[in-house]
Amino acid sequence: MAKKQQIYQTGTINSLINAVYDGDTTIGEIKDHGDFGLGTFDMVDGEMIVCDNVYYRADQDGNLSIVNDDVTVPFAVVSKFNPSIEIGLNNKSFNDLEVYLTELFPSKNMVYSIKITGHFTKILLRSEACQPRTYRKMSETMPDLQKTFSQENVDGVLIGVWFPKYLEQLNVPGFHFHYVDSARQVGGHVFNFELSKGRVFIQELKSLQVDLIDNDEFANADLVSGAESIDQLEKQR
Ligand SMILES: [Zn+2]
Repeated sequence: MAKKQQIYQTGTINSLINAVYDGDTTIGEIKDHGDFGLGTFDMVDGEMIVCDNVYYRADQDGNLSIVNDDVTVPFAVVSKFNPSIEIGLNNKSFNDLEVYLTELFPSKNMVYSIKITGHFTKILLRSEACQPRTYRKMSETMPDLQKTFSQENVDGVLIGVWFPKYLEQLNVPGFHFHYVDSARQVGGHVFNFELSKGRVFIQELKSLQVDLIDNDEFANADLVSGAESIDQLEKQR
């Protein structure tokens, strides 16, 4: 059997929203598994964006910097980006794109990495200040910590993953995009956008490797509750 293309993640979305904010995997280790993807950093200190094998951090104001290999993370998902589908796009909102791309997927039961390059008439982004100790659930803290900001008439790249609903305990179900602008100055988690012209590249992934976090917070966390807050935390449209 040919080797399956794999998506790798450390931590789970449920561990992240249930306050497991420190991980045990370094950026250097994650690089072995991928050159494309998204995540966050220990203490949820900004948004991670991995594009063209460069690991960026967007600080709370969305300013990008390149991340050192020794930084550890509580949640990240990456692949070695190798798309098999490529199509041009015109005039798509996030909602339009969701419908359009889902129809392009060969199966609704696999995982996908999605890159979209293009011109955005508007894009609404989010980043955040780090979680204060003592750690509390993200649904309690994020409304005060996050900052939203928008850009208009910019060129940039959406870096995304799509997970099927049956994996919602592990990762955000549906689309999850982060963004970097073409100058690699500004980025963040994507809440909404209007794309005027672009190109989408899709990689289908049929293998999933998950590293669980080897610390007391993960070992003792309630990892089943809180899924209902994922939409509120990650999807504002
Ligand atoms: Zn995100």
